[in-house]
Amino acid sequence: MLVQVREAPGRGRGIFAARPISAGEVVLRAPPVLLYPQHGTAAAFCSHCLRAFNSLEENAASVVACSSCGLVGFCGAACAAAAAADPGSHCPAVCRLLSACNLAGLNDEQQTALQFLFRCCSLRAAVAAGDSDAAARLATITSLSAPPVLPPSDAADGAAPSSSGGGGGDGLSSWSAGSTAVRELHGRLNHALAAAGAGPAAALGVEEVAELLRRDAANGYGIMAPSAPDGERRIRGTGIYSLPSLLNHECLPNVARFDCFDREPSGPRANACVEFRALHDIPAGEEVTQSYFPLPWPLGERQQRCREDYGFECACPRCKEEATWSEEESEWETDEDAGMEDAEAAGAATAGGAAPAHAHAHGDQQQQQQQGAAAAGAAGQEQQVDPAYINLFLLKYVCPREGCYGTLAPLPGQPAGQPGGPLFECNMCGGRRSEAEFLAELEAAD
Ligand SMILES: [Zn+2]
Ligand SMILES: [Zn+2]
Ligand SMILES: [Zn+2]
Ligand SMILES: [Zn+2]
Repeated sequence: MLVQVREAPGRGRGIFAARPISAGEVVLRAPPVLLYPQHGTAAAFCSHCLRAFNSLEENAASVVACSSCGLVGFCGAACAAAAAADPGSHCPAVCRLLSACNLAGLNDEQQTALQFLFRCCSLRAAVAAGDSDAAARLATITSLSAPPVLPPSDAADGAAPSSSGGGGGDGLSSWSAGSTAVRELHGRLNHALAAAGAGPAAALGVEEVAELLRRDAANGYGIMAPSAPDGERRIRGTGIYSLPSLLNHECLPNVARFDCFDREPSGPRANACVEFRALHDIPAGEEVTQSYFPLPWPLGERQQRCREDYGFECACPRCKEEATWSEEESEWETDEDAGMEDAEAAGAATAGGAAPAHAHAHGDQQQQQQQGAAAAGAAGQEQQVDPAYINLFLLKYVCPREGCYGTLAPLPGQPAGQPGGPLFECNMCGGRRSEAEFLAELEAAD
């Protein structure tokens, strides 16, 4: 066993390395407990496995439309059949709820929330009918951490710039049982349940709706669509994964998440597994951490997102160090604001890549940095980190492609000591760069 679950001091459970893990190793690989589409883009992706229709070899020819609603489709007959038999997918019960629901006046975020809630209702009905697999999945969802509701004064309704998706007050603060948004969704849900003739077992109370939405907001992984020709990147849906939901956040993480939704599946929904690859060597006993958002985000943005969307204050070594920086030192990050807004609209982006031009490293640190680069990560993250380390970390692990905002991680299964060093792959655009190329870029940027 590569990892083990145990208490992480001050932040609930966490995942820890059970033995030394090498750079590029797949630390964790998991199938989804539940997948649901982003409402606004649902027509372009398989409603069972979220595969993009335009990634199919024979393209539209192999898309199977839902035989009941005709509004969504599946990437093939296998997914259509699997969905029909899966109460947590676009099964007949969920299809009826969607068709029966009045979605008028709801934004994409709210409609997407209903996609999630319909699947939960359908799972509940299946549990009542004796489906033990549905019971296990629902139990996993209801055992996810649900961060506390924020006091109304911090509500995202106001100036919160981090609102993503369909805009308008997403984040934990809007998912409380007392909020207008939740009561509205609960009302629409009840109407749909009644109109679709669903039994009482499927129903959810308003508290339950709020709890489910908060658990989902804090634990669901936004699955990105491939970049559009105009470079705009949208979200295709959300996946809830059991073990990965225990990965805690650090602003200098040691793993990055990779998915392959558009790769040819080698089994039912195999394309919907996510894997987490080690960015660098991880000693036994160290906590495995991911970043819940793109690495180059400035301190204020990261703190706000952690607080509002995940319900905790980030006090990681990077945040502690950056809190001591003067405005001038942080300036290189904020001049990318425009890029960040674009990216945020897509729900998953960042401050326009850490281009070498933005580095605030100094020439005399170059040598030391390059050595650090070769062994980056060896520096214990529990200790203090210095500005040069943070800077180097961003240069090394943030994808250099403009507008990508992805994270580079070594490819798994590479022979140790290969010439040119390990090959790194971007988890967003798939771009690759070798260690040697990175060092050459560092040199050139000096
Ligand atoms: Zn599919
Ligand atoms: Zn349908
Ligand atoms: Zn932090
Ligand atoms: Zn990239």
